[in-house]
Amino acid sequence: MPTQYDYIVIGGGSGGLATAQRAVEYGARVAIIEPGRLGGTCVNVGCVPKKLMWNAASLGHGLADAAGYGFDVELRGHDWAALKAGRDAYVARLNGIYAANLEKKGIDWVRAAARFTGPRTVSVGGGELAAPQVTIATGGRPTVPAIPGSELGITSDGFFALETRPRRVAIVGSGYIAVELAGAFAGLGSQVSVVVRHEGVLRHFDSMVGAALAREMAADGIELVTHAVPKALTADGATRTLHLEDGRAIGPYDCVLWAIGREPLSADLGLDAAGVTTVGGFIVTDHLQDTNVAGVHAIGDVTGRAPLTPVAIAAGRRLSDRLFGGKPDRHLDYNLIPTVIFSHPPIGTVGLSEAEARALHHDAVRTYTASFVPMYHALTPHKRRAEMKLVCVGPEERVVGLHVIGAGADEMLQGFAVALKMGARKRDLDDTIAIHPTAAEELVTMR
Ligand code: FAD
Ligand code: NDP
Repeated sequence: MPTQYDYIVIGGGSGGLATAQRAVEYGARVAIIEPGRLGGTCVNVGCVPKKLMWNAASLGHGLADAAGYGFDVELRGHDWAALKAGRDAYVARLNGIYAANLEKKGIDWVRAAARFTGPRTVSVGGGELAAPQVTIATGGRPTVPAIPGSELGITSDGFFALETRPRRVAIVGSGYIAVELAGAFAGLGSQVSVVVRHEGVLRHFDSMVGAALAREMAADGIELVTHAVPKALTADGATRTLHLEDGRAIGPYDCVLWAIGREPLSADLGLDAAGVTTVGGFIVTDHLQDTNVAGVHAIGDVTGRAPLTPVAIAAGRRLSDRLFGGKPDRHLDYNLIPTVIFSHPPIGTVGLSEAEARALHHDAVRTYTASFVPMYHALTPHKRRAEMKLVCVGPEERVVGLHVIGAGADEMLQGFAVALKMGARKRDLDDTIAIHPTAAEELVTMR
């Protein structure tokens, strides 16, 4: 006989923990199945250790700027191993806090990989669990290209395992992870090449941010290798050479990192036994996070929709509100999700890019832009420009997109995202008194 629960959650990452903890608040008997460390990608090999590396690189930039403010700083180096030890200890502390929370709340943590044996039954190691409601929150893993020698490279998972800082690094890819890890390596002293298939980075965002970031990366000494499609990776002892389809061979590098996207962890779930539909491995869900099988739901990266931690958490909590909290219509609205790219400088973006808005609204689109050197750089040798764009639509100029690159963009965005979610018009921003002297004030003073 399977052990019976009200709710089984498969995966103890951002989404799984959130939905399990919300369900138990409503009195449900919950099991969470997680073979690895609690916290999933975000806590162990994602947002959290990444943000610490971003902080470290930001301090590196700050130290370089300090002389302009009168500091007599002699930089004698950086201890990567000490940073990693501190980072690992912090993550381990979080793992412990999550485990303690589960115990305190009476959620059973089953330390095994789950596999469906039927629509609402799963096997875990030797045992079997059953529940009327099951949520799949198994996340994803980095994609490694199917080319010869790809195993000689690492992924973002391997980045967090590095015990020493490689001197020469190539990062293949042009999205979030490529630019974030390029900034972390470069800020801590590595020589970095970013290898992209097309012309630039962050092509899927407003063109302003990609162009501005490419300029800032170049100023930081990061090389951009364009129109470069990898064909093979070879090793000569500890060094690596990347061979491209057009015949170029680039390197040598001490480390090659693949940052070309992530794929869902669904293949080993036995989804056939449950009858759950997938497309490209992603679990298909409707607006309620329901799959095609009654009582089986999916949230987070494994659904392929807006793969961000707060999205997985919000979807998970709303799902439990609906299943166990008596809120039958509760669901996540996937519109206007704000997101920050922790590059150097950071990027904050919410809503439509100018190109997306023009494709939808044509001549009804009006944009406002600002480009300036923040006052911080008045006294620093190296100047970084900040750039901003508002994308507005219609006669009342509703703000449908807001894009910022520059120091503070990461912390600036949250409040503006609230304004957009509430339907802010350009004149609402104009009617808001600026905060001076800040960079953010430019967003309410654009003409
Ligand atoms: P995950 O957090 O990946 O959790 C899934 C869990 O399921 C894992 O613990 C896994 O072990 C478990 N699992 C898998 N298969 C099984 C099975 N068969 N049985 C039981 N358990 C299983 N997002 C942000 O919002 N901000 C950031 O700054 C940010 N930075 C990132 C940096 C990097 C380098 C990466 C890789 C990602 C980053 N993300 C960031 C994305 C974020 O980490 C994910 O969107 C988020 O973790 C998704 O949560 P999830 O619950 O869907 O999956
Ligand atoms: P992304 O989807 O952001 O970017 C990957 C890019 O790599 C693609 O856009 C594509 O760009 C390029 N690419 C794809 N296939 C290949 C290939 N075969 N060879 C070379 N280049 C290729 O993926 P990431 O891995 O960077 O990140 C995964 C997800 O994790 C993100 O989408 C994001 O949701 C999340 N994340 C969030 C972070 C945050 O919130 N700050 C930080 C890190 C990750 P092109 O078409 O231009 O070639």
